[in-house]
Amino acid sequence: MAKSALNNTGPLEVKSQHGGVPVLMYHGIAGPGTGPIPNAERKYWIPVSQLTAQLEKIVSGGYLVAPLCHLWWLKNFPQRPLALTFDDGHASDYTVAYPLLQEFGFRADFFINTASVGTTGYLTWNQIREMHKGRMSIQSHGHEHVDLSRLSPTALSKQLEHSKKSIEDQIGRAVEFLSVPFGLVSTRVITEALAQGYRAVCTSRPWPAQMGETEISRMAIHRRMSSRRFESLLAGSFWPYATACLRQAMLYLPKQVLLRHKPAALTVQVSGEAQ
Ligand SMILES: [Zn+2]
Repeated sequence: MAKSALNNTGPLEVKSQHGGVPVLMYHGIAGPGTGPIPNAERKYWIPVSQLTAQLEKIVSGGYLVAPLCHLWWLKNFPQRPLALTFDDGHASDYTVAYPLLQEFGFRADFFINTASVGTTGYLTWNQIREMHKGRMSIQSHGHEHVDLSRLSPTALSKQLEHSKKSIEDQIGRAVEFLSVPFGLVSTRVITEALAQGYRAVCTSRPWPAQMGETEISRMAIHRRMSSRRFESLLAGSFWPYATACLRQAMLYLPKQVLLRHKPAALTVQVSGEAQ
């Protein structure tokens, strides 16, 4: 907990010595033409009306939206910086989120699994190249959507290398960020990612991010999040982050037990070899 947060006399704000940037993590966006949403993912898919309302809040709050590849390098931050990230490379990134972001003049980071590209429900390389030309940031979510923290060193290396190189070959720009599937990360994953030329690894730790560091925390946005809670997140208020961290801590042990004994219950793949 940041000491300065406790000393604040107004609404509690999360402020570390260097400040923190809210990095929002989206998944699928349900809109016209979106196919059926798997039950396991339903919590994280939000309707396009909810995303539109959230983008309007960002505009009215005067936040400066920039992709991680821009914010990560800054020494001096603009007022109210904010990053929008989208995981998994769903087709809705292109059909729903991308046109809406363009309408608002926002840029975002899209993390894709290269093994999913071109398969049903996911982005195609043509769409990814078009989004890149439209000034969206394309980054890696690994080759396959697997628990990277439990792969062998060789398999982990292949997952990170293959996805980075494939995206770079397609868009002609360096891939600098990796977001870990399921938020499952370890020191070994981060070390290997840095060795392969990634600048930082994005996690699901619900806390404002410290830019310039090798681990970037992100707050997941889900369907049942109220408008009021969303506004508190943008403002860096203490409680929404603290309660999310507490919830994550309480679920840590049960999740580890499930991962060991019944990973399918979490829709986690525990092995996979990059091709
Ligand atoms: Zn994912």
